[in-house]
Formats: sequence, structure tokens, C-alpha cells
Amino acid sequence: MNDVNESFSFPSFTRMRRTRMKEALRSMVRETILTPNDFIYPMFVVPGKKVRNEVASMPGVFQLSVDEAVREARLVRKLGIPAVILFGIPEHKDEIGSHAWLDNGIVQQAVRAIKKSDTDIVVITDVCLCEYTSHGHCGIVNGNVILNDETLRLLAAEALSHAFAGADMVAPSDMMDGRIAVIRAALDENGFLDLPIMSYAAKYASGYYGPFRDAAESTPLFGDRRSHQMDPANSDEAMREVENDIKEGADIIMVKPAGPYLDIVRSVKDRFGMPTAAYQVSGEYAMIKAAGMNGWIDHDRVMLESLLGIKRAGADMILTYFALEASRLLK
Ligand SMILES: [Zn+2]
Repeated sequence: MNDVNESFSFPSFTRMRRTRMKEALRSMVRETILTPNDFIYPMFVVPGKKVRNEVASMPGVFQLSVDEAVREARLVRKLGIPAVILFGIPEHKDEIGSHAWLDNGIVQQAVRAIKKSDTDIVVITDVCLCEYTSHGHCGIVNGNVILNDETLRLLAAEALSHAFAGADMVAPSDMMDGRIAVIRAALDENGFLDLPIMSYAAKYASGYYGPFRDAAESTPLFGDRRSHQMDPANSDEAMREVENDIKEGADIIMVKPAGPYLDIVRSVKDRFGMPTAAYQVSGEYAMIKAAGMNGWIDHDRVMLESLLGIKRAGADMILTYFALEASRLLK
């Protein structure tokens, strides 16, 4: 054996392992702690009663009718999660997504019902047109082009109708230019001066959204979303997007997706010091679920690690389909 000579003396080095030897000691030096309070739970609301449709590509995630959404929201709050974000699947879709701003639209109904029930949960609404348009695009389309300014009016109408229904916060996800300014102005003009906006500020044109489109039934009939969502290759551009949204009046800024974009989350947090959200999207969820169901990874461990990583990167809040499962484990 080529053992080191007994007289050999080691160079000096730091003993990082000292604080890792016992769980209690590890807990004392732990820098990031995940709690249910970190989560926002996305819910998909559909017409009908007593409906719970499991989304095929997202096991454990359901399309819920309004009554079921109310039950779920109560449960979410009981687990210590402070907020839900609502997506609506309307009865009827058309060219301009007119059911998005119906007084009695699906999201508006759900907001009213949850706010009327005995829970103090924060109700956030997603503001976009892609769930409501027959072509599945996020705005008004002319040929193959999504018209920016024409779409802004409709987004403002949608956000306003959510506000009138009682939403605690609106979250524009469309990525049209100027939407935060226009929505802020519309809210203010109608007396909603204190209603905060969470902007999907740096939202990338990502392949990770696939399963969501099953859940929200919002797959575009033609083309894709690259004319408004960001190129995954860009990070300086993300800073400009975020800066614009802050200037236009966003109160919380979001990076989406989360896991593959942790560098963006960290940069945004360091640079702007704003309340920062990150959206762990459907594809991130589905991959962990599928590998877990196959026994290829330890599902619970990887789930919690993925969430911890997002928080460690600088997210103050995480939109995640794992909110319920993770909260049960963390309690
Ligand atoms: Zn959209």
C-alpha cells in the first residue's frame, strides 16, 4: 500500500464538516427554511357542480368547479398557505376572449364564492386571454400577429372585472408591452388604488408549460408565444422587463418558470430588492411526479429540494402545484 508517510504533516485547511455532524447542529446553521407560508397554490376553475377532473399530465392536480374550489381554498388555508391563484376555463371561447371580463365569468364567480366563505385566504387572479380565446392566443390576433395595444384594453377590462368581483390581487401573465401601466391606470380610475399587481415580469417562452395547457385548455391552434414571451437565452433582457414593470406599477414581480431560471430569480432579487415570486411550472411538476411514480427518484425529497432551491435563489413566494403536498410534509 502506498500509504502517506507517518511523518508527513498535512497543510492547514478548514474543517467545514464540524457543523454537519448532527442534525440539531445542522439546523442551527441552516440558511433557508421552507414553510407553507412560502407557497401560492394555482387552481383551475371550470363550469359545473361537484366537478373534480384530474389533469392527465399533472397527477394530483384537478380542474375544479366553483363549489369544489371553495372547499379546496379552505383546505389550502388550513395547511398554512396564504394564497391561491385562479385560472378560468370558460363555458364558451371566442376570437377576442370575451368571457374573460364577464361579470359572471367563471373566475369572477369563483372569486366571489371564495371571498364569501369563511377563509381569509388571499385570492389572486391570473389575467390573460389565452384560456378564453378560440385560437388559444394571449390577445387579439390579426393574421399571425397578436396586436399589442388592442389587447391591452381587453386585459384592463378583465383585471377590472376581477377587482369588482373581489380579487385581492391581479396577476397579468400575457407579456404584452405596457400592460402593467394600463391595468394600474384602469384600477386606479375605478377606485382600486390599494389593489396590488403581481406581474409575470420575466416570463419565458418555455417548453415546460406543456401540461398546463392541458389543464387550462389553452394550447394555441397555430404558431407559438415567442412574439411576446422571452427568449430562454436572455437574462439582461429579463432585467429590463422587470424594471419596466416596476416603473409601471407592479408590486410583486415574478420569474417564470422557476427551476431552470434560478439565475434570473437571484439577479432580480439582488438588483431590485422587490417582493419576488417564482412560478414552478407544470412541466417541472410533471417531471418530478413522473420520475417519482416510476421509482426513479425519491419524490418527496426531490419535491422539497426543488422548492428549497427556488427559495434559496431569492424567491419570497413560490407558485407551485406541490403546495398542498409539500405543506403536509413541512407541518
Ligand atoms: Zn396567455
